[in-house]
Amino acid sequence: MAKPPPSAVDNVVSLAKRRGFVYPCGEIYGGTRSAWDYGPLGAMLKKNLRDAWWDDIVMLPCWGRKGPDGDKVSIVPLDTCIIQNPKVWVASGHVGGFNDPMVDDKETKQRFRADHLQGFYAGTKEDFAAMDAADEAVERGLAKFNVRPVATLIANSPSEALELMQRDPKLIKPFKIVRVYQTSSAGPGTISVKVEERGHASIGIIKAVEMSMLVNEPESVLSPFSGKAGALTAPRQFNLMFYSYTGAVHDEATKVYLRPETAQGIFINFKNVVDTSRVRIPFGIAQTGKAFRNEVTPRNFTFRSREFEQMEIEFFCHESDAMAWYTFWRDFRMEWWKSIGLAGDNLILREHDTDELAHYSKATSDIEYRFPFTAPGYGELEGVAYRGAFDLTQHTEHSKVKLDYFDTERGPINPKTNLPAGERYTPHVIEPSAGLDRGVLAILCEAYTPDTTRASGVFMKFHPRVAPIKAAVFPLVNKDGLPELADRLHADLVKRFGRYGLIETDAKQSIGKRYARMDEAGCPFCFTIDGQTREDGTVTVRHRDDQRQERMPLEDVVVFLERALQL
Ligand code: ATP
Repeated sequence: MAKPPPSAVDNVVSLAKRRGFVYPCGEIYGGTRSAWDYGPLGAMLKKNLRDAWWDDIVMLPCWGRKGPDGDKVSIVPLDTCIIQNPKVWVASGHVGGFNDPMVDDKETKQRFRADHLQGFYAGTKEDFAAMDAADEAVERGLAKFNVRPVATLIANSPSEALELMQRDPKLIKPFKIVRVYQTSSAGPGTISVKVEERGHASIGIIKAVEMSMLVNEPESVLSPFSGKAGALTAPRQFNLMFYSYTGAVHDEATKVYLRPETAQGIFINFKNVVDTSRVRIPFGIAQTGKAFRNEVTPRNFTFRSREFEQMEIEFFCHESDAMAWYTFWRDFRMEWWKSIGLAGDNLILREHDTDELAHYSKATSDIEYRFPFTAPGYGELEGVAYRGAFDLTQHTEHSKVKLDYFDTERGPINPKTNLPAGERYTPHVIEPSAGLDRGVLAILCEAYTPDTTRASGVFMKFHPRVAPIKAAVFPLVNKDGLPELADRLHADLVKRFGRYGLIETDAKQSIGKRYARMDEAGCPFCFTIDGQTREDGTVTVRHRDDQRQERMPLEDVVVFLERALQL
């Protein structure tokens, strides 16, 4: 069977390390493989993306657009604790439900989710043909395990199907997969599933371990790692929340959790915000911050880490307006990701099928990016979910504090005043929930542009809004008064653009090497001071994307950059 092709993500990972975007967390001690540190350029890129979100959601919500009600979208910010009262996570369902069944291979020490698919191999038609020889065994295997493939889950590719199935274990019990062609057994309890991509000829094979066998007869199931029977433990529940203890005594009463999402901090403060600010429904509350999940299989660089940052909005509205707001947010969020440079076929909006929805959700869609490791499929960047009144109702029940709203603009008209009498209701919620680290990763992957005509062999084509370095100023040689002229221009640019990103200056190395370094850092414009600058006060600007060079008067540089950086 063909192995998956070497992933282009390796190139991105190596450039990210080389240029100081992303480092393995705690690298000098061997790293953790589950979390990542951002270097100088990465920290700046991440800040720029977070700021872009904050500006377009909190400062000027939806670019000043009007919502479906005809009024400007209203959003207020919030900043809540990572460690909350643990009852929050009981009410939200995370204590009881945020569990994955885990299995260990006692020999190889590998751990995996019992309900997870264990591998995905994208194969060629020839591989598939070779596999056909095993068809008969497939049928026998199927009968043995009483597995009936059901073709209900629609996905654009096997890897997308894989992500979908990983996201919602229900989908693989009992193997509701894309278009299932055949399944085969590679031993008791291990099932291979062949699926066909929609619109593509290639075929993938997914290997999974059948849950019922693991629960009932773990000793007879072959390990997908060592291939041996009896090497696997029975599944054990594993809560994805990190926990700690408050105070000196460590027992159940002092157990606290690190938040697995920022959303709950918003719901539990709904009443505070309504009572203390002048918000009126419809309105949203937004916050960014760290979330922690003890992911069983952190993987794919920063895509699935144990510590990551979210950017979440909870938008509260009346039930009758909720679908219109859902559509509004879904479309705006898609447009927003495009506006910061993720475009074309690499970005898709995927509306969930009704049988994929959580029980409380009336509609959900994912904004997905084609990461090199998911290609030809896609991985989730942001989920936009219509959550009904589920969260506020849960917290009302558990806290006994009524989280509802009195809407003075609704209800029957009072004949005496000719004004609405008001209506009390629990608002419905639209939740656009984005991953900041996944956003940064998508931007890194999208920006990575191989180019053999350059010394660096590659350049990072960042959208100017998120580019960590906005401009660089280079004296052509480190003498003849050129460094002084460069310093002056550099100081001017730092003053004007420094709060948007880094402004570099560098007098050493050949100009070619300096350009190459800036290409890898994704700096959109380099200004070079040379002998002619002294004579006529002009500089050369080099454009990153097409390496074009042009001269302009020194005094035009600020205005040029203002326009070019779209500030
Ligand atoms: P997934 O199915 O990929 O685990 P999810 O559906 O559980 O994601 P949500 O709970 O909806 O994710 O969280 C919202 C966003 O947070 C996701 O769209 C993603 O961008 C980000 N996110 C979730 N888990 C992680 C993680 N382990 N590492 C990095 N980002 C994450």
